[in-house]
Amino acid sequence: MMNLQQHHLPLQKYMALMDLQERNERLFYKLLIDNVEELLPIVYTPTVGEACQKYGSIFRRPQGLFISLKEKGKILEVLKNWPERSIQVIVVTDGERILGLGDLGCQGMGIPVGKLALYTALGGVRPSACLPVTIDVGTNNEQLLKDEFYIGLRQKRATGQEYDDLLNEFMCAVKQNFGEKVLIQFEDFANHNAFSLLAKYGTTHLVFNDDIQGTAAVVLAGVVAALKILGGILVDHTFLFLGAGEAGTGIAELIALEMSKQAKAPVEETRKKIWLVDSKGLIVSSRKDTLQHFKKPWAHEHEPVKDLLNAVKAIKPTILIGSSGVGRTFTKEVIEAVSSFNERPVIMALSNPTSQSECTAEEAYTWSKGKAIFASGSPFGPVRYNGKDFVPGQANNAYIFPGFGLGLVISGTIRVHDEMLLAAAEGLAGQVTEENIEKGLIYPPFQNIRKISAHIAAKVAAKAYDLGLASRLPRPDNLVKYAESCMYSPLYRNYR
Ligand code: NAP
Ligand code: MN
Repeated sequence: MMNLQQHHLPLQKYMALMDLQERNERLFYKLLIDNVEELLPIVYTPTVGEACQKYGSIFRRPQGLFISLKEKGKILEVLKNWPERSIQVIVVTDGERILGLGDLGCQGMGIPVGKLALYTALGGVRPSACLPVTIDVGTNNEQLLKDEFYIGLRQKRATGQEYDDLLNEFMCAVKQNFGEKVLIQFEDFANHNAFSLLAKYGTTHLVFNDDIQGTAAVVLAGVVAALKILGGILVDHTFLFLGAGEAGTGIAELIALEMSKQAKAPVEETRKKIWLVDSKGLIVSSRKDTLQHFKKPWAHEHEPVKDLLNAVKAIKPTILIGSSGVGRTFTKEVIEAVSSFNERPVIMALSNPTSQSECTAEEAYTWSKGKAIFASGSPFGPVRYNGKDFVPGQANNAYIFPGFGLGLVISGTIRVHDEMLLAAAEGLAGQVTEENIEKGLIYPPFQNIRKISAHIAAKVAAKAYDLGLASRLPRPDNLVKYAESCMYSPLYRNYR
């Protein structure tokens, strides 16, 4: 840590950490686990974003596996070249929508590498069982195409049949080479591919999309924890989202599903408690013809409403969620409006990075006169308002995906089921204590993340056994203990 702290720029720290991962993997994980709050922003967002933007010029050694259009017809052979045989988790990107930074082509490799480091540090998946993959089908980023240090194919992105064929060959080769129980996590694909890949391979492979499903589970967990303050069950609440993309619609669907389970009502009914606003205004049935397919379930009967403030006034949500990627959109007027008809409005400003947050923690507490239960995608420090301390929660996906993946791996699950996502959300919400709730915190403190991951893993594995999708038999009696016993620890062996 002392060596690391001598670097002043975050990118230098990132490079030093990547060198350490290469040189002494055990020490790298020891450091990461013991200093998780300090090092997470380096190994993952925001610094990993800068690293991806500059990947070509800071490149030292290849990490992970690159598969390009040139390997078409030979992907199985390429996979066989990877030195480890027993792979449990693959994180794969095509680099088209890296974080909020857009198309970074095959420089997106920093993301699968970073996410898998968290699978190990936070979820205890063995490092040798993790495989980062970047699929290179070109890039539409003009700047990168002209950059002399760009390391990928210098061509526009392949699309349509050519793209589908390459992905299909990859998916088949993975199953052939590593078996049925390997988890394939899709990461940072553009909207138009993310939903269809998940739908297409969900029935034949063990697949998970963190941007859609992981986000959904972490936000649902926060909402369920907030119910301890608000009272009632989910279906007593009305939700309004700003932003109807991967995050917004993914969250909405999982909330509707949990509502339908709690209230024993069909999901078509519970969806009606949830409204979304996109760049063109409130999503309503009169817009159905022109809506993308993933927005259609949310097009309810209502007259058109152009903007968020008027939507808030018309819908009167009890829970307001920002997932638009556009900062400063929860204005004073919006927060005052939502606070005028709620004793304790729940306000979640999920957009990243901090500059894009729909509002700051301070704004939420001040404008709501201390009524808001606030959480955000990017971290904010505690706020003092009217002599009282408020601690905002962070809806960080890193709460869910490492434990979720661990649960799948330890039970030998062969398919992801929505019920497992609900179980993961319940597992996380269950880790929020009375003491946390008193401070307005709807997420547990992050220092306990390995314990939290073990609890989430146990919930997910239990659901997999109940559904008959687990292949590791017999079922362990105590799944929390079993999960903990499976977790990788960066200890040196004692030979005495
Ligand atoms: P996305 O798929 O591109 O969706 C963005 C949505 O916002 C689209 O529906 C878009 O409308 C809408 N939008 C854009 N500008 C708007 C405006 N001015 N007014 C109203 N709506 C607007 O992006 P995403 O993957 O869902 O991510 C969205 C944000 O969520 C990002 O900032 C990301 O960092 C954040 N996020 C946070 C977490 C977390 O906190 N754990 C997890 C995942 C994502 P159109 O459909 O009309 O274009
Ligand atoms: Mn992502």
